[in-house]
Amino acid sequence: MQFRNFKMVDYVVYGRGCFAQLDEILAPRRSDGKPMIFLLDHHFEQDAAFQSRIPLRGTDELIIADVTHEPKTSYVDEITRNIRERHGVVSGIIGIGGGSVMDLAKAVAIMMTNEGRAQDYQGYDLVKNKAVYKVGIPTISGTGAEVSRTCVLTGPEKKLGMNSDFTPFDQIVLDPELIKGVPKDQNFYTGMDCYIHCIESLDGTFLNMFSKSYGEKALEMCRNVYLRKDVWDEDSDEQLMMASYAGGMSIAYSQVGVAHAVSYGLSYLLGTKHGIGNCIVFNHLQEFYPEGVAEFHEMVRKHNIHIPTGVCAGLSDDEFNKMIDVSLGMKLLWENALGKDWERQMTRERLRALYEKL
Ligand code: NAD
Ligand code: ZN
Repeated sequence: MQFRNFKMVDYVVYGRGCFAQLDEILAPRRSDGKPMIFLLDHHFEQDAAFQSRIPLRGTDELIIADVTHEPKTSYVDEITRNIRERHGVVSGIIGIGGGSVMDLAKAVAIMMTNEGRAQDYQGYDLVKNKAVYKVGIPTISGTGAEVSRTCVLTGPEKKLGMNSDFTPFDQIVLDPELIKGVPKDQNFYTGMDCYIHCIESLDGTFLNMFSKSYGEKALEMCRNVYLRKDVWDEDSDEQLMMASYAGGMSIAYSQVGVAHAVSYGLSYLLGTKHGIGNCIVFNHLQEFYPEGVAEFHEMVRKHNIHIPTGVCAGLSDDEFNKMIDVSLGMKLLWENALGKDWERQMTRERLRALYEKL
């Protein structure tokens, strides 16, 4: 097909307090006796008040998702196995948390109806069967994972999502009240993921009006909250939540670029998390995105955020080569960033020099 035909999220509810409507939203999706499984970010493990607002009915189960590390295929398999053993078939999987829980929920919902291991489905259009009903409820905004067609997983061989038409959520619940109070640094790292999605999409060779229209709006909202406003308030949460959504829509029909391609290498070798990893890399990308990086530096100063440096100091040649292999494997990202002759431009030596700067 010449033009990509995108499967998107089916239902979206937005608004401050809309989380209270979850019970009503789920009711028609409950098939008799089969439970809804809630995957809840471990940040809320001790938060009894929040947990009491989760509409558990009948044999529903609440599972605390450990997101100390970004989701691994082995963890997806473990959760899926446990759910199958305890419940057999379920009515749905509901993920409540940051980007990591969004991805876990999508992956578990897929593995409930597909044989084998999660690692078998890392790639493009490998998923065979429709997933069980799945809902995403973000409690941090920025990644765009709530709208994307993938769920990023680290497997034994690669870090790659299950990219398929069966991956997007059936329903998302966007309640800005839920992202209130994310600690300043975490808010910034995840918010910058959105900012960087916009810069990479808007500056990329794959750009088209679909992506541009969402990307420009998302970028404007990022600038509002991180540059123009002096206090973080309810309006900031609302703008960031919609920036994340629009940024995700922008890259759905284009691609990300250099920061993501390079930070994937870091993450694979060093376990660096997505948001902070992108910041560590973007900090040094003046030659690719001069205006975006200057503005990023301004935001870092304004919010007094620590961006780590020297993260590649002391790595061996083998380790650099592993990161370079992972990064150069992200062909579409490089092509979007540098054009069709990207391989001539981004040599292993140039990429090594870039990693050494981080
Ligand atoms: P995260 O989900 O890893 O969470 C970061 C930390 O914030 C965790 O410790 C978590 O417990 C905590 N947290 C969650 N909600 C909170 C709240 N309301 N208040 C305080 N703390 C809270 O971080 P993230 O940046 O949202 O997501 C990163 C993940 O998203 C990575 O695994 C990355 O690969 C993935 N990602 C996916 C896509 C996609 O399209 N599927 C896109 C970008 C990133
Ligand atoms: Zn990202």
